[in-house]
Amino acid sequence: MTRMARMEQVILNEIECPVCYEHMSRPIILCRSGHNLCHNCKKCISKCPVSTSGRNFALETIVRSAEYPCQYRNFGCASILTLPQIQHEEVCEYRPVRCPLFDSTGVTCLWTGVREDFRTHVTHEHVACNVHEGTVINLNIMYTSNTVIFALSKMFVMSILIKNGAVFYRLNLEGPFDDLNKYKCKHVLLSDDNVITTFVFSPSPKWIEFSGGIFMDCVASTLILNVSIHNT
Ligand SMILES: [Zn+2]
Ligand SMILES: [Zn+2]
Ligand SMILES: [Zn+2]
Ligand SMILES: [Zn+2]
Repeated sequence: MTRMARMEQVILNEIECPVCYEHMSRPIILCRSGHNLCHNCKKCISKCPVSTSGRNFALETIVRSAEYPCQYRNFGCASILTLPQIQHEEVCEYRPVRCPLFDSTGVTCLWTGVREDFRTHVTHEHVACNVHEGTVINLNIMYTSNTVIFALSKMFVMSILIKNGAVFYRLNLEGPFDDLNKYKCKHVLLSDDNVITTFVFSPSPKWIEFSGGIFMDCVASTLILNVSIHNT
């Protein structure tokens, strides 16, 4: 059965009068609880035979079978959804989102837009931010605050915050929360080409604090963080 034929069947079922079982034609009367009854039957009965609640069950059944364009269609999404898949809109790539740097170190930004405009926004409005293409990056953590990394068709935001002598670090993925575990980020902290420590984790919105001991014996200006991002 084609989708249209199925839809027609759903509608025919729902326009069946619950009293005489014929398909209703105009005028169709609503009982006080929202059931549809044909005009003749409404005249003959004093109490609706299906009344249990105030919901419009006929319309709900039709709605369940209908196809909807994504609510972000005006931003470019061409997805067609049925009701059970409507959670698509939670992760729709055309859904407007906040500036990926909105809570990064030293940034206050109220911009909202679609993901495909991020690159333009970041390069024009956040000129102090490092922009990097590719999965491997080396940076001096003492002289860097925010870095946007375009890698694996995604955008990652790396932030470093030095506060009260402690070093806080975050590498987050711009995108749905569920995607965080699809990536692993390997970090190697180097001082004068000597490996001080290595750690691996998935991108996360949480800040981590580097242990102060890591920095005790190093000349800060030679501290290099090497980060490589992989699919898991
Ligand atoms: Zn009837
Ligand atoms: Zn009723
Ligand atoms: Zn969509
Ligand atoms: Zn911004």
